[in-house]
Amino acid sequence: MVSNVRARLLNAAAPGRDSGYVLYWAQMNRRVEANHALAFAIEKANACQLPLLVYEALTNTYRAANDRIHTFVLEGVPEFQKRVEALGAGYAFYLRRRKSDSNRTLYELAKRAALIVTDDYPCFIGADHNARIPAKIGIPYYAVDASCVTPMASYPKREWAAYTMRPKVHRLLPEHLLPFSMPKLEHRWREARPAWHTPVDNIGQLVESCEIDHSVKPSISYTGGRLAAERHLREFVEKRIGRYSAERNSPSNHATSELSPYLHFGQIGALEVALASSACPEFMEELIVRRELAFNFARHCAEPDRLSALPEWAQLTLHKHAKDRREHMYSQDAFEQARTHDSLWNACQKEMLLRGRIHGYYRMYWGKKIIEWSPTHQTAQDTMLYLHDKYALDGRDPNTYTSVLWCFGLHDRPWGERPVFGTIRYMGYDGMKRKTDVPAYIQEIEYLERMGKDPFRR
Ligand SMILES: Cc1cc2nc3c(=O)[nH]c(=O)nc-3n(C[C@H](O)[C@H](O)[C@H](O)COP(=O)(O)OP(=O)(O)OC[C@H]3O[C@@H](n4cnc5c(N)ncnc54)[C@H](O)[C@@H]3O)c2cc1C
Repeated sequence: MVSNVRARLLNAAAPGRDSGYVLYWAQMNRRVEANHALAFAIEKANACQLPLLVYEALTNTYRAANDRIHTFVLEGVPEFQKRVEALGAGYAFYLRRRKSDSNRTLYELAKRAALIVTDDYPCFIGADHNARIPAKIGIPYYAVDASCVTPMASYPKREWAAYTMRPKVHRLLPEHLLPFSMPKLEHRWREARPAWHTPVDNIGQLVESCEIDHSVKPSISYTGGRLAAERHLREFVEKRIGRYSAERNSPSNHATSELSPYLHFGQIGALEVALASSACPEFMEELIVRRELAFNFARHCAEPDRLSALPEWAQLTLHKHAKDRREHMYSQDAFEQARTHDSLWNACQKEMLLRGRIHGYYRMYWGKKIIEWSPTHQTAQDTMLYLHDKYALDGRDPNTYTSVLWCFGLHDRPWGERPVFGTIRYMGYDGMKRKTDVPAYIQEIEYLERMGKDPFRR
């Protein structure tokens, strides 16, 4: 049984009458395995003696919709459909190509549904849908947390930092870090698919047919989908996890999991990853403590994309240093095109442009330098979020908002005072040079740029 702690009923509508099915809307957890929301929907379908219909969609109206994100999501569709159907559920996928295409498919499906279950998600489109739709849908609307190992609802308040979150997480792990088997569906789906169902066979053509930004090309490194996610996890556990604790901060050693795009789109679940890698405490710290601290922050903060979400000490010190002289200053455009004086920073930005993510250690440096070289602190945050929205496969995530604000002091503490940063932690090139192999990283990124392909990944 899915724990009640994970499920929230977001309206007071009565169940649909003479319904044909229970509806699961896979917004953020596009997988069949270890998916508490899908399991909850199966339990509801069995209780109502109805079949289950799984609905997945891709619209063209989300911020910065582009070829990269569309391709990654579409690459996940065929395998998800196959595995949903193997459960005995129905599956329907809607690709909204033109802005004038219908935006009513969910409401159409809801007319014949007893109730709807979807993913509980604290930011971006998921949060927006879950705030707006329940009042309009006319049937019970459940949001279920299938993203976190320990349920978000276990932390009723905003946590101050990792050190306040950590003991709570560890207390909850014996109850939640357990294999999760999906319940069996009792009633098979026997109807035809809706007429608008979009078969996903030629992904290139489908992407081309959409009214989206075609200037952002697919990642040269990451293919989307469950099979790729499983391969990444397998390779990490078999080949790299042993090096994680010593080498995770050495970007050119490739010791991390690189699972963040797959976790973001729910093509793999944090619980599955945690169970496969629980022998490495340093990895558990990132995957569970840090990631779930980010979900906690996004859930309890009304505007995670504003500097006003920072703790008071950070806001005060930034205010005090707002007008400090910047030695270098770049426009959003110069940042985007990797045109700064710093070859390491430019390589990080090019990694974002080509791969769709930046190694975690250099990502801190990347963010800190945007603060140092932007005309104001607010423009620095806007630039970081803009670049993530547009290029990062793991962007638009609780980790995005939280980690960007971490660069400004969130979940951190005051350090020594200096220009522009005030008492916010500073990171400099010399530190990177001392602690990491900067030339090897720059060489690797130059190779990607030159060859247009990534021998390290895919
Ligand atoms: C400025 C900045 C922006 C960032 N933006 C994002 C983002 O958009 N999306 C994103 O997923 N992460 C973001 N991070 C956090 C971190 O850099 C990435 O999660 C990590 O690099 C992903 O690579 P990986 O999967 O190989 O991580 P691994 O080291 O293999 O860790 C496994 C998983 O743990 C989680 N994790 C790892 N490090 C952190 C962390 N510091 N905080 C929270 N969770 C973590 C991620 O889900 C990651 O996939 C950002 C960090 C900074 C400093």
